[in-house]
Amino acid sequence: MKKRITILGSTGSIGTQTLEVLENIENKEDFTVVGLCCNSNLEKFIPQIKKFNPKKVHINDFEAYKKLKKEFPKLEISTGVDDLIEFSTNNTDILLTATTGTIALKPTLAAINKNIDIALANKETLVMAGDIVMKNAKEKGVKILPVDSEHSAILQSSGGDFHLIDNILITASGGPFLNKTTKEIEQAKAIDALKHPNWNMGKKITIDSSTLMNKGLEVIEAHHLFNIPYNKIKVVIHPESIIHSAIEMVDGSVIAQIGNPSMHIPIQYALTYPNRKKGIKSNSFSFFDKNLTFSPPDYEKFPCLKIAYEAGLKGGIYPAVLNAANEVAVYKFLDGKINIKGIIDIVEKALNKAIEIKNPTLEDIFEADKIAREFAKNYN
Ligand code: MN
Repeated sequence: MKKRITILGSTGSIGTQTLEVLENIENKEDFTVVGLCCNSNLEKFIPQIKKFNPKKVHINDFEAYKKLKKEFPKLEISTGVDDLIEFSTNNTDILLTATTGTIALKPTLAAINKNIDIALANKETLVMAGDIVMKNAKEKGVKILPVDSEHSAILQSSGGDFHLIDNILITASGGPFLNKTTKEIEQAKAIDALKHPNWNMGKKITIDSSTLMNKGLEVIEAHHLFNIPYNKIKVVIHPESIIHSAIEMVDGSVIAQIGNPSMHIPIQYALTYPNRKKGIKSNSFSFFDKNLTFSPPDYEKFPCLKIAYEAGLKGGIYPAVLNAANEVAVYKFLDGKINIKGIIDIVEKALNKAIEIKNPTLEDIFEADKIAREFAKNYN
């Protein structure tokens, strides 16, 4: 039986690399791409459709949809948010969610409901609604397989058994501002923040890496994925990005997953879990190439990390507010409307304004997300 894969966000960084993995994996005939979905990038999407010949495709942008219809008159093509749910849950074994933002949350929940495993590259899903998503996945016996490199490292180190983990040591490169002063960071422009030392990623996540908000979101993601309390998730600054994360077991043994930085490995592991296969292999790893260094995070210089921990600890709607306000603020920063300090201010103030709801429903979460976005948009 072939493993059927549907990809949300196939033209983005993770989506593109997922298709590279599938082209190069050992026994590639064991996998089949049944669905491809993107926002609007036809230049990348059309060659993907020709190469992988999916049964169905979905495109968000309506103008692009009309062009695609002309290009592939016989192919089943859908568009719009409602049809995305239908598309995501149709005859597939794995849904890989590699879109940015909040659009993947409802399709992910719908897929879980239909017993489809999730390869999760969209952190927002767990940051916004981790309690609901993990509860539903547990009830259905559905696997949530992390594609994020740190969480994949934790999964690989644990072998899938999380209850003997005492502490999670989640590594962070520290981003481009690691050795800058607070003043230099505050004055930085988007172009400075986009120079990430080790990873080539989308713009939003690159800015999040520069403020350490990305690590904050990953702490929340880890809390939900591995069911570990926040005081047992520790961030370690490790600029070389060789140790992708580690776990300390209840007996004190520390197990880490290490290697040259590559997203192909976590993507492939999510698709082959719990097995491993040959695939794209980077240069053999050597312990002699780099000196590995480690330091604790500086919460004064990078307040976003602290704010994220606090929002995670409060739970309820707060992580969703954090995520929404940050997302809007990051795009304002990319547009040159605010500086890094502005991102911090917006996120802090949005959280202060949010009204606590115990055990929020999905509707409560979307409402909090909407209010936080409005607030962030109008803040100046
Ligand atoms: Mn990551």
